[in-house]
Amino acid sequence: MGRQDDEQDHGVEALREAHEHVLERIDAACRRVERDSSGVQLVAVSKTVPVERLALAVRAGFEVFGENRVQEAASKIPQLGGVRWHLVGHLQANKARSALELFDVIESVDSIDLARRLSRLAGELDGRVRPVLLQVNVDADPAKTGFDPPAIDAALPELAELPNLRLDGLMTVGRLAQSAEDARPTFVALRRLSDRLRAVSPALGGELSMGMSDDFEVACEEGATIVRVGRALFGARPAPRGG
Ligand SMILES: *Cc1c(COP(=O)(O)O)cnc(C)c1O
Repeated sequence: MGRQDDEQDHGVEALREAHEHVLERIDAACRRVERDSSGVQLVAVSKTVPVERLALAVRAGFEVFGENRVQEAASKIPQLGGVRWHLVGHLQANKARSALELFDVIESVDSIDLARRLSRLAGELDGRVRPVLLQVNVDADPAKTGFDPPAIDAALPELAELPNLRLDGLMTVGRLAQSAEDARPTFVALRRLSDRLRAVSPALGGELSMGMSDDFEVACEEGATIVRVGRALFGARPAPRGG
């Protein structure tokens, strides 16, 4: 076997171990609160990770990837078959059509205008009903997009009527915290919001996408059904350019 094959096999093995380790941590967190970990889907957030490495991740058993930029995803997704893709970052109106073509799930529907546009475009493209999550700015953090909790109450009746979207649940990005425990109130608030909204609107599904590398175990304890984990799987990302 050539040196390149060797290196690739090491890469696959390292990713397989990282994946196993995160799954074990999810499992342990679920056991602490007597949940079944099969109710938690792991989305491997692969932003900035080159497509060659993602091919190794597929060999290592990764099944679902998350990307936050349509343009970056457009260069990766066509090269990797047999896996699923979630959009987890803010979607600009002019990229909505591409996002519908590329992604299986759009987790970051953060305004009524965007929801209307996605439903209309999905109708034009192929008429398939698209699973989406509504992103909620639980902490009212000015640096983040997402519905404010009161606004989502008001928007839900119209969102529920959009013919080509299926509202699978809610998503949030927790505040930058000193410790994982600091994120817990955000996760509790998202779960309570979901319970309250679902009591009045059966169109809203029960998915709760919350928790990232630093706090996904706390999110599992608080009822996450989707965790979005990047660095704990792929290692630290390069510092953003210009930032
Ligand atoms: C980058 C990102 C993640 C993953 O963050 P890590 O800290 O690398 O686990 C999750 N969700 C969103 C929306 C992201 O942009």
